[in-house]
Amino acid sequence: MIDIRTHDDTAPAPGELEVLQRFLNLHDHEPSGREVDPPLEMIRDFLVERGLLTPDERFGETERETALALRRALRNLIAAGGDRLAPDDAEVIDRLGIEAGLHPHFHPGRAPTIEPRGTGAAAALGHLLAVAFLAAVDGSFAHLKLCADPTCRAVFFDRSRNRSGKWCSMETCGNRAKVRAFRERQRRAGR
Ligand SMILES: [Zn+2]
Repeated sequence: MIDIRTHDDTAPAPGELEVLQRFLNLHDHEPSGREVDPPLEMIRDFLVERGLLTPDERFGETERETALALRRALRNLIAAGGDRLAPDDAEVIDRLGIEAGLHPHFHPGRAPTIEPRGTGAAAALGHLLAVAFLAAVDGSFAHLKLCADPTCRAVFFDRSRNRSGKWCSMETCGNRAKVRAFRERQRRAGR
């Protein structure tokens, strides 16, 4: 099993959003260090580890394509501030919602839910879509952002006031940006 955690050291988002955040941050590295889409086994292991898929359920190239399309659509939605979805991405989400058989439920004394019917990869990805949907309704989705560092672009949960956070972590990406800004000021001052 691939160690998924080594690829994502962002602080966890609250509640169920954490599993969505980790899913959106799955990625791999080429030997050159360049970031690439997560391989099939990484996505499957993640879904199994999180109890969304059983090890014997099918997860092949077609399922990986659906997972990557969902990942792309939701990352684009985050980049757009949570309120604009490109037609291609909207279609991905429509199709997955239908495949997963998402059903709304009202419960006495607690918030309504929307849950996938059935099993398998479509239901696993449908669960992640449902988490995003409910977070969009309760406003927490708007706290998800992409790190401003162009070499990082990790999804993080912005806890700052006024939602003004820019980096996944002040220790890594935030600090790098500060050092860059400092050097730039020095350069301009002719030192
Ligand atoms: Zn970052």
